[in-house]
Amino acid sequence: MSAICAVSTPLAEGAISVIRISGGSALTVAAKVFKPAGGKSVADMAGYTCAYGYVVDGEGARVDDAVLTVFRAPHSYTGEDVAEISCHGGLYVTKKILRLCCENGAKPAERGEFTKLAFINGKLSLTQAEAVMDVISAQGELTLHSANLARGGELFRRIDGIKSGLIKLLGELSAWVDYPEEELPEVEDAAMAQTLSDSAAQIKRLLAVYNNGMLLRQGVPAVIVGRPNVGKSTLMNLLLGYGRAIVTDIAGTTRDIIEESVRLGDVTLRLSDTAGIRETEDEVEKIGVELARRRLDESALIIAVFDGSSQPAAEDTELISALAERAARGGRVIALINKSDKGVQSEWRGALGEFESAENGAVFEISAKSGEGRELLERRICEMFSAAGDDSDIFVNERQKYCLERALENLQAALGAQQIGVTLDAVTISIGEAAAALSELTGERITETVVDEVFSKFCVGK
Ligand code: GDP
Ligand code: MG
Repeated sequence: MSAICAVSTPLAEGAISVIRISGGSALTVAAKVFKPAGGKSVADMAGYTCAYGYVVDGEGARVDDAVLTVFRAPHSYTGEDVAEISCHGGLYVTKKILRLCCENGAKPAERGEFTKLAFINGKLSLTQAEAVMDVISAQGELTLHSANLARGGELFRRIDGIKSGLIKLLGELSAWVDYPEEELPEVEDAAMAQTLSDSAAQIKRLLAVYNNGMLLRQGVPAVIVGRPNVGKSTLMNLLLGYGRAIVTDIAGTTRDIIEESVRLGDVTLRLSDTAGIRETEDEVEKIGVELARRRLDESALIIAVFDGSSQPAAEDTELISALAERAARGGRVIALINKSDKGVQSEWRGALGEFESAENGAVFEISAKSGEGRELLERRICEMFSAAGDDSDIFVNERQKYCLERALENLQAALGAQQIGVTLDAVTISIGEAAAALSELTGERITETVVDEVFSKFCVGK
C-alpha cells in the first residue's frame, strides 16, 4: 500500500492551498497528519465528505486549521482513495504539511501523476486526460469549449468512429483474402473507396482546425511594420494600454524588436514592434531592420502602419507591394492609415485598396495617438482569428496531430493503391497502419514512453 502526495494549488502565497494524497494508504497518511475537530476519526469518514480539524506534527502540535475531504476508491479522480487537505495558503505552512505527509509514508508525486493514475485505472481515456491540461491552459471561450468537448470524450468518440469503420473494412478484406473458396460477398470497390475517403475527410477536418487552435492556444504571432516615424510604437502602446515602447519623433528610435502579449477578446496577439524598415547606415539600426524583415516572414498577422498625414513615399509603395504578395499567398494583412487626427491624404485609399477587398485583409484609418479607430481594429482582428471555427471544433494537440497525419497518409496510400489496382494485401496493410495510428491517438495502443511523455507536460499536483 502506497500513496503519492503533492500541492495541487500554485506554489504561491494565497488564501488556500490544497494538498492532495492518492493511493491505497492515502487515508492512513491523512489520519496521521490530520485530526478532525470533535474527536471523529478519518478512518470513519465516508467518501465525498469533509471534516474541519487540525493538521498536527509528529509531536501532536497544531500546525494549521484545515478541512479534509475524503474520496473513496473507485469514486475519486484517480480511482484510488484520495484525501485532500485544504489548509491556509502560506508557502511555509503548505510546504510543511506536504513534508509531514511525506514523513508519514507518502511519496512526492511526479508531474501529472494523479491524472496518469486516472488513465491507468480507466477513469479517463488518454484524450480525456490530455484535455484536462487543455482546460487548465484555456485562455478563452473557444479553447475552453474545445477542451471540454474532449474532456467529455468527444474526441475519443470521433476517432473511435473512424477507426471502427476501418477495422470493419479490414475484417471483410481479410476474410475475403484468407478464405477465397468460401462464398463470402466480395468487398465492393466503391464501398471501400467510400469508407476510405470519408475517413480521410474527417481526419482532414480535424487537421484543418489544428492550425487555428495553435494560434488560439499559443497566441497569434503579429508584427507591426512600416517606415520610421509613422506611429508603430505608438500603436503598440495603444494596443497594450501602457507605454511599453519608446515613442519619439526621431526616426530610428526603435531598433530592437519589442514583443508583448495583448489579449483581444478570445484572441491573444504576440505582438512585435519593429524598427522601421528603411535603408540606413546606422549599424545597430541595420540589424533591427534585418530582424524586422525576418519577423515579417514568421508572423500570422502583419499590421502595416502608414502615415496618412503625408503622401505615400517610395518606401511605402515598396512595402505595399511586398504585403500584396503576402496577402496573395493567403497571409493576413491589416493596413492602418495612421494619424487620422491630422487629416488623411486622399491617395492612401487608392494605394491600399487591394487589402480592403481581400478576404484576409482590411484597411482602417486610425489615430494611434488619440485611440480613434482602435475598437474597429480590435474587432476585425478578433474576427480574423476566431471566426474560422465553430462549436464542434476540437483543437487536437501536437501528439494527436502527428497520429492523424500518419493515419491520413496511410488512408491516401490505400486509396491510391486501390485505384491503380495493386493487390488487396497492400491496401490492407495501409488500412491497418491507419487504424494503428488512430489507436495510438486514443491511447488504446500506446507505449509506456509515450504515456510518460504525455503526462510529463502536466503540472505537479494534477
Ligand atoms: P515609429 O517610429 O513608427 O515607432 O513611430 P512612433 O510611434 O515613435 O511615433 C513617431 C511620432 O509620431 C511621435 O511623435 C508620435 O507622437 C507621432 N504619432 C504617432 N501616432 C500618431 C497619431 O495618430 N497622430 C499624431 N498626430 N501623431 C502621431
Ligand atoms: Mg518605434
